[in-house]
Amino acid sequence: MNYHVMTLFPEMIDSAVNCSILGKAIERNLINVNAVNIRDYTLDKHKKVDDYTYGGGAGMLMAPQPVYDCHKAISESISRNRKVRTIYVTPQGKVFDQDLAKELSNEEDLIFLCGHYEGIDERVLEEVVTDYVSIGDYVLTGGELPSLVMMDCISRLIPGVLSNEESAQTESFDDGLLEYPQYTRPEIWMDKRVPEVLLSGHHANIEKWRHEMSLERTKQRRPDLYEIYAFKNRKD
Ligand code: SAM
Repeated sequence: MNYHVMTLFPEMIDSAVNCSILGKAIERNLINVNAVNIRDYTLDKHKKVDDYTYGGGAGMLMAPQPVYDCHKAISESISRNRKVRTIYVTPQGKVFDQDLAKELSNEEDLIFLCGHYEGIDERVLEEVVTDYVSIGDYVLTGGELPSLVMMDCISRLIPGVLSNEESAQTESFDDGLLEYPQYTRPEIWMDKRVPEVLLSGHHANIEKWRHEMSLERTKQRRPDLYEIYAFKNRKD
């Protein structure tokens, strides 16, 4: 997977991707992260990339020309023949979730466009963007953190990135439920015992207990998800 991140702050992307699981995935050539500075493409002699909004109102807007030329350069470096999915990270998009992450993990290249200030001129968005995606119903300063959130999540689903593939498969949301509670040593901590069934070695009982706990936890903490799960798994 090759990620191309269009940003005014490439150092934010570079400093975050080179550690932990993403850093290892880069070292092993499973993913590649190319942070591109939109400012390098401005034709303005003062290197400006933003301007006032027509119609008035607070704040500045990212101008279309640098964004368009930056996108063109990235697209041409990837392929002249196919349109690469270009995600504008924006609070006005579809909310990112595990299903979308799975879908995006099948792409060879993804372009993330990070906005700043009041956002980006609508005309260039119409030209280059294929997907509008949000990380939640709140407003952040810029698109770098949302892009990093999405790249982290997508990368976990790329074969080989996690040392134990099982762990991506049994995590929350994979089957529409939250994950069950987990325990490690010691067996007793602050007078709390690890549930007996987990010490039994009886795999069928352990699986049954875990499924029940997943159902219970989802029902309590995310009744919205539980309803969808119950509807999909109803026995008519
Ligand atoms: N004026 C915009 C609006 O009301 O929709 C918000 C602009 S925000 C201050 C600046 C940039 O941060 C956006 O262009 C977007 O790239 C990014 N951003 C902010 N919140 C986000 C979110 N919840 N999800 C994804 N991107 C977000």
